[in-house]
Amino acid sequence: MMIFIKIDNEDDMKTFGESLGKLLQGGEFIELIGDVGAGKTTLVKGIAVGLGVEEQVQSPSFTISRVYNGRNNIVLAHYDFYRLKDAGIMENELKETIGDSNTITIVEWSGAVVKTLPIDRLSVNITSPTEDSREIVIDHGGDLSDKLEKQLGLL
Ligand code: ADP
Ligand code: MG
Repeated sequence: MMIFIKIDNEDDMKTFGESLGKLLQGGEFIELIGDVGAGKTTLVKGIAVGLGVEEQVQSPSFTISRVYNGRNNIVLAHYDFYRLKDAGIMENELKETIGDSNTITIVEWSGAVVKTLPIDRLSVNITSPTEDSREIVIDHGGDLSDKLEKQLGLL
C-alpha cells in the first residue's frame, strides 16, 4: 500500500507532521526524500510538535544531527546527511539510534548511509508542483511502518 497526500501550504505541512508525530510510539524510522526546499525540515517541525517537543526544531544541515526530547521519554533524532561524503562515524551513531526503541529516527538525504537504513522504514517522498503546494507519497517496508502507514491512511 502507498499513500498520496496533497498539501496546500506550509501550515498544512506542519499540521500533517503533527498528526504523524502523534502516532509515533518510539522505534520508528522515517526517511525524507525531496529536493532542497521541498519541505522535509518543515515536516519535521510538525512531527516534533506531535511528539511534544518544546524546543524549536532547526535544520541539522550544518550540524548533521540534532536530538530533541519529547513526550513519554521519546527522543527525536533528526539527521541531514546532505554534506556528508563519507558515512564513517555517523553510521555507528545511526545504528545506535535505529536500535533504540525510545528513539524516533528521521533522516534527510540518506544517500551516504543507504546501507544502514532499516528495511522497516516509512519513506516520505515530497515534491513541489508549485511554490506553496506539495505532493507527498508515502511508502513503507516492514511491520512498524506498515502500522503507521495504515493509521495515516485513516486520518
Ligand atoms: P527541506 O528541508 O526539504 O530542504 P525546508 O522545510 O527547509 O525544506 O524548506 C521548505 C521551504 O518551502 C520553506 O521556506 C517553506 O516556507 C517553503 N514552503 C512553501 N510552501 C510549503 C509547503 N506547502 N510545505 C512546506 N514548505 C513550504
Ligand atoms: Mg532540510
